[in-house]
Amino acid sequence: MVAEVINGKDLSMELKSEMKKEVHDLRNKNVVPHLTVVLVGNNPASESYVNGKKRASEEVGISSEIIKLEDTVTEKELLKVIDRLNRNDKVHGILVQLPLPNHIHVQHIIEFIDPKKDVDGFHPYNIGKMMTGQDTFLPCTPYGILTMLRSKNITIEGKHAVIIGRSNIVGKPVGQLLLNENATVTYCHSKTKNLKEITRLADILVVAVGKPNVIDKHYVKDGVIVIDVGINRLDDGSLTGDVDFDSCLEKASYITPVPRGVGPMTITMLLHNTIKAAKGMVQ
Ligand code: NAD
Repeated sequence: MVAEVINGKDLSMELKSEMKKEVHDLRNKNVVPHLTVVLVGNNPASESYVNGKKRASEEVGISSEIIKLEDTVTEKELLKVIDRLNRNDKVHGILVQLPLPNHIHVQHIIEFIDPKKDVDGFHPYNIGKMMTGQDTFLPCTPYGILTMLRSKNITIEGKHAVIIGRSNIVGKPVGQLLLNENATVTYCHSKTKNLKEITRLADILVVAVGKPNVIDKHYVKDGVIVIDVGINRLDDGSLTGDVDFDSCLEKASYITPVPRGVGPMTITMLLHNTIKAAKGMVQ
């Protein structure tokens, strides 16, 4: 079997062209969807992500701004900036780019963002709504993965989904979204014993570890659907995922590449959430 590749770049282009029309309609009603991204410090990877988010917003007509703060900014000063954004009716979405410097308590910041503007879907209120299956902002990477599966009409119900990684932004919520779709979900992580025995049972394998080639064909069964979330920069500057793509290609039924896989979908779902916020759909 040779897997069908789920190209996140192509799918995100399709979704963005639909969003462009939605934004156009909103603008005709005098609603200009607006996303404010707060960047603290000058981590090059964060700068590049933030610029990508601004570019993508502009592509679909969402107005966006980046507020850049020195990495010496205090937690109190950052909370003040968020307070101002929370109270500004023209700002529909607020995103504070992570990671933050160590002297700032990340959870204090996330919990201070108005849940109605929490387009990252990281606020505990929105996480609670997601867990209880209510409509809300879904975290962008997990939502992007779900959208990729749906785009291929892949049945999730009844499948055994194995998630490797248990971070709050990827591993945990993607498992929850698949559970909401009636998958049977198993989580694996750095302390899991006999990883290979578990991953070989997966119908859907989501890999969010952050190490190149942790999964190859020996870890998967025939017909598996492999979702590679990892983004790893190699010494030569190129990007690679967590999965040995070529080796899994011959066993999987579907597989996502890196680049042009989950990455572009993450930004696209951020745009989706910003439009949803502008429509006032999350209260
Ligand atoms: P993280 O470091 O917070 O979590 C990594 C997880 O992997 C942990 O839960 C850990 O227990 C597990 N792990 C580590 N080594 C393991 C091993 N040998 N076997 C099994 N589990 C192991 O990372 P994260 O924020 O969840 O991100 C994971 C990867 O996904 C990174 O490469 C990150 O860059 C990428 N990422 C991509 C996107 C995207 O849009 N494509 C978005 C977010 C993160």
